[in-house]
Amino acid sequence: MSYLGHSNYGIALAMLAALKHDGKAFCSTFKVGTTHESRKIHGLRIYGGRLRTPRAVLIVGGAHAREMIPPESVLLFAWKICRSYANGNDITFGGKTYPASIVALLVESLEIIVVPLANPDGRAWVETADQNWRKNRRPPPAPGGCRGADTNRNYDFLFSSGLGTSTSPCAYEVYRGPNAQSEPEVKALRDLIDRQPNIRGVLDVHSYTGLILYPWGDDQNQSTNAAMSFLNPTFDGLRGIKGDNYREHILSSDWKWYQETAARMRDGAHEVAQRTYVPTQGIDLYATSGTLSDYAYSRHLAEQAFPKILGMAVEIGFASDGQFRPTGNAAKVVRDEGVVLIIEFCLAMICTGDAVLSSSRAARKFSDELRSLRAELKESPAGQRYVEWSTSLAGRILVSLADPHVAKELPGLVKEFRAWWNAKNQPLSDEAAKLAGDFLATLRKRGPAELAPAIDAFMADIERMTGNPASKAIRTIRAKPKSARTTS
Ligand SMILES: [Zn+2]
Repeated sequence: MSYLGHSNYGIALAMLAALKHDGKAFCSTFKVGTTHESRKIHGLRIYGGRLRTPRAVLIVGGAHAREMIPPESVLLFAWKICRSYANGNDITFGGKTYPASIVALLVESLEIIVVPLANPDGRAWVETADQNWRKNRRPPPAPGGCRGADTNRNYDFLFSSGLGTSTSPCAYEVYRGPNAQSEPEVKALRDLIDRQPNIRGVLDVHSYTGLILYPWGDDQNQSTNAAMSFLNPTFDGLRGIKGDNYREHILSSDWKWYQETAARMRDGAHEVAQRTYVPTQGIDLYATSGTLSDYAYSRHLAEQAFPKILGMAVEIGFASDGQFRPTGNAAKVVRDEGVVLIIEFCLAMICTGDAVLSSSRAARKFSDELRSLRAELKESPAGQRYVEWSTSLAGRILVSLADPHVAKELPGLVKEFRAWWNAKNQPLSDEAAKLAGDFLATLRKRGPAELAPAIDAFMADIERMTGNPASKAIRTIRAKPKSARTTS
């Protein structure tokens, strides 16, 4: 099993699991599942933070056997961030460098789960018999029949719709399998997601066409009619056609998150070799059903008890690189772009609060307090602004926090605000307000322009909170700021 020199994913991941940070191991290998041909699917968990239940992201490569570079990208991503976390080195991919402090924020804020090669049977077949093989190696339904099912058309999302799939085992590319989640490779990932309700993001790495894909894949998006959705059988048979009346419902805030995240992924990847990936909805490639990214995102809609997972897919590389099998420098560029796309996705998944806590050595308990604050803030439109900022600006805030001038002021500030928040009935002191003001001023001066409006609003809130106890602060924030009242 070797394309660019990695002979065995199990061994490669085990080497990473042996690394240490401050004398402590921070990753571990695990068995994701077992294939039709009894091969092991290997996984690695990476986490160096202090939270009991950090957010988790799942990064998958190699679902389609012939796509040679995605497993290399996923492995290189894990390799680079683990080595950087262990050794404190910056990491570079072409023209794009991430400082070690950003890697530390990633590793301490997110449990990162990687599965570099999700279809090892198919890959073995590509390497020994058929370079163009895409499916797994499901045994034929009857002797002499055709082998294999498409593991990225077998998930339980509009499976029976037949959109972009075939019911014939002899279909070379898109046989969907006998039923949803019939395939061991698919079941293994579904079970992993079931077992870990802390998974909030899934990125499925494919190749090639230079695309950054977000839901939905079955039809064009709309945010106006919640009843027009994949859950409503009234619309069966109408999905999959662009420009007609049926469009798939998506929450406008999710759609916005996807567009912003896809844009930051594009911008990051562009720095590698000045090539432009195109963010777009899944349907714009072609109509699909049963894909991992749509399935992951659909779970919380199909089943209320499930947490929301933001699912995306990328198609790394371009036809001119050598399609599924780039070699030499082209392979390296595609692989590096893949790593940067993964890192940017992970940065977008970080909850700023968790990151701040993990990096400021705050106790575990504080994370629960912060979460309860977040829950309270969510209840009002004015408070919701903070939650939205912490989501949409997370990556930019984090990059700013890695700036030593900014980071130096943070621990004292967290300590002051924590004491105030815990006391509930003590007024916010002038000293704490000044600390916050100085910190925000530094952040405003040194951080990116996108942060300025959020910082200004935050400064105004702090001013109004000064002299007030924490018990009143939430109410203060809940009062809509003046500017919002006059402009809307
Ligand atoms: Zn693919």
